[in-house]
Amino acid sequence: MEARKIFLKEDEIPRQWYNILADIRLNPPLKPDGTPVLPEDLAPVFPMNLIEQEVSTERWIDIPEDVLDVLRIWRPAPLVRARSLEKALGTPARIYFKNESVSPPGSHKPNTAVPQAYYNKVFGIERLTTETGAGQWGSALSFACAQFGIRCKVYMVRVSFDQKPYRKSMMETWGGNCVASPSMETRAGRDALEKNPDTPGSLGTAISEAIEAAVADETGKTRYSLGSVLNHVMLHQTIIGLEAKKQFEMIGDYPDIVIGCAGGGSNFAGLAFPFVHDKINGRPIEIYPVEPTACPTLTKAPFVYDYGDTAGYTPLLPMHSLGHAFVPPPLHAGGLRYHGMAPTVSQIVAEGLATPRSVTQLDAYQAGILLARTEGIIPAPETTHALACVVDEARKAREEGKEKTIVFTWSGHGLLDLGAYDRYLSGMLSNFALSEDEIAQSEEIFRDYPKPEHLKSC
Ligand SMILES: *Cc1c(COP(=O)(O)O)cnc(C)c1O
Repeated sequence: MEARKIFLKEDEIPRQWYNILADIRLNPPLKPDGTPVLPEDLAPVFPMNLIEQEVSTERWIDIPEDVLDVLRIWRPAPLVRARSLEKALGTPARIYFKNESVSPPGSHKPNTAVPQAYYNKVFGIERLTTETGAGQWGSALSFACAQFGIRCKVYMVRVSFDQKPYRKSMMETWGGNCVASPSMETRAGRDALEKNPDTPGSLGTAISEAIEAAVADETGKTRYSLGSVLNHVMLHQTIIGLEAKKQFEMIGDYPDIVIGCAGGGSNFAGLAFPFVHDKINGRPIEIYPVEPTACPTLTKAPFVYDYGDTAGYTPLLPMHSLGHAFVPPPLHAGGLRYHGMAPTVSQIVAEGLATPRSVTQLDAYQAGILLARTEGIIPAPETTHALACVVDEARKAREEGKEKTIVFTWSGHGLLDLGAYDRYLSGMLSNFALSEDEIAQSEEIFRDYPKPEHLKSC
């Protein structure tokens, strides 16, 4: 019998996260006046224990026992050998994926939602606000808040709110409260609606609303929580790659190619960063973050200082950005519709430690259908972008006759995204690609901002 899944026992779960800030240099986040942000500047928005993690340069950070206890509801996640896909493609490549769709909300996002809810609870916070694109993050945080007994308020990007009504039902089942963004509840929301009453919304605007709602609470018991982009989120997600490394060790294999789809960068970073550590230490690995051609942050946008949200409430972050006013086309992969990219992911790309790729919506769905019909799991629309790259690399391995080992993150299942599959199967989906003109126009916005330095870490 050839094994399909490689399991770790519950007590083999990693006890520490890997912090890439021990191994790479980052430009500091800046205030609008160009001076570095200090930890206390962030205190109205995040609890101090998470701010300390955000700026830590310790390589290994202990995972609290109470966090591990909740993660063990579904972790360790299986490493799966995609034998049926290999057979369908006739490739000599060995293809593996970390199945992050097995969590209760159905994606990798609770890997950080759980520790974030925990650290807020320990700090005395009673309520979290957040944004959500496709609804995955909002449901992950609602789930995590229920585990630790705190309240959760979610601003959900309008286009997804309409496309995916059951995501709201999930959030409310876990006790969260979800409204469509832009909403009339915040100044940022009212401004966006005044400019364009029919706007599909954007992650940038929803982030502004959630930050505003957290800071406006006069009791001081509300904070904001972000599902991607920030250093501490990438840190929490490294449990994916750390588990994968142990699993590869068990079977005596090791990846040549590491792939993840990239919206804000967290599922990609979660799998890839522990391997980036090895790459920095001399191991040859190809590392590919994959994004949609409709929101080509890493492949087309420049490396600049820009705000993480539309209203400019966040610090200026050093990242690849299409401009914080950019409203991406209404792609079905809602989790990949973000104008920026994690500073850590942007930095490893700037240093050549990872090579970004982009794929069209139709190529992504085509790969998604192939994977659904071979491996069985219906992938989230975001995940299909990674899949298109995997299929591409597997075909290349066949042409070259090379036995490569490929690993990717299966970031989530698509069982609440079936409307998108309906549209694809009935031929109603199309591709969006941005013209150079549109990209240049949206970038106008940060022309006068400070410029990040091109740092070399190794
Ligand atoms: C949110 C999400 C993404 C994109 O976010 P990252 O921070 O880039 O990982 C990808 N896949 C799924 C299933 C998601 O829910």
